[in-house]
Amino acid sequence: MKVIALVSGGLDSTLAARLIKDQGLEVIALNFKTPFCLCDRGKSPGCVSYSRKFSEELGMEFKVFSLGEEFLQIIENPKHGYGSNLNPCIDCRILKLRRAKEFMREAGASFIVTGEVIGQRPMSQHRQALNMIDKESGLEGFVLRPLSAQLLEETLPEKEGWVKREKLLNFNGRSRKPQMDLAEEFNIKDYPCPAGGCLLTDTEFSKKVKDLIKHSELSLNNIELLKAGRYFRFSRDAKLVVGRNERENARLENLAQEGDILFSPPEIAGPTALGRGVFSEELIKFSAEIVCRYCDLNGTHQATIAYRKAGTVPSGESPCLVVTAVDDNRISSVRIG
Ligand code: SF4
Repeated sequence: MKVIALVSGGLDSTLAARLIKDQGLEVIALNFKTPFCLCDRGKSPGCVSYSRKFSEELGMEFKVFSLGEEFLQIIENPKHGYGSNLNPCIDCRILKLRRAKEFMREAGASFIVTGEVIGQRPMSQHRQALNMIDKESGLEGFVLRPLSAQLLEETLPEKEGWVKREKLLNFNGRSRKPQMDLAEEFNIKDYPCPAGGCLLTDTEFSKKVKDLIKHSELSLNNIELLKAGRYFRFSRDAKLVVGRNERENARLENLAQEGDILFSPPEIAGPTALGRGVFSEELIKFSAEIVCRYCDLNGTHQATIAYRKAGTVPSGESPCLVVTAVDDNRISSVRIG
């Protein structure tokens, strides 16, 4: 019998998939990638890499589904509202389960396994929310949550004897200790997302996304911009993102679209910045002053900042401005997050 297990790269879903695999079922691991995955940032191997490695080690087929535009739609107007920040967890779970249901049918699988633990998250993991999520995704009775199954109503796979309920668990609440103990028992190490979650649970990042929503600018490219540096809003029509390291500087170059302006210091070390929208001469100068603020000024307050249209290569021909670094008060009046 085939089963679909949603794996996030977090410990809970890893344990849940393992418990079902250990009951002798054929498990297909399914990872959903959204533009807000935390593991994309920095040094961790990432949820996808970890989930793939774990799945391969256990001999499970592994699939990745990307959620893009449809995910943005639920952020803008989530039927079930937000969590503590801009995280629309209930709608997010419903969307993922609906996609998983389609895949379950295509793959000829019989039910779905998730790593949810009852009472662990205030918004989406209490009994009532779990029931509603199953109902709205059209999966009542078909979602097995092995870590808390003994505390939940029997699902179809338990009733039918496809899995042994007595081998499932009764984890409950916010403590991570039972999961840690089980991970040790299974010799599971180095999972990248101990408690799951995504960028939308972050207060500062949520402020930036709210700014995009307010200006009707929520798009995948703009979300990638938010992830690629410090974010400044000048007006309804103009914003600037300033890279914080070489990786982000390169990312901004890649994300630039026709009409964008790229700023960088040609003579000293400093960031790349991307301006998007309507930029007057005054705004170009202000942007250059902001870029100057983050340059390696070596004790001075001034720098030459070049700017050019996206799609052109930096050259001696690019126009330049000699500017003084903007002060902290002025910068905080336009910085978001
Ligand atoms: S934390 Fe993010 S990824 Fe997780 S359920 Fe909530 S919105 Fe979805």
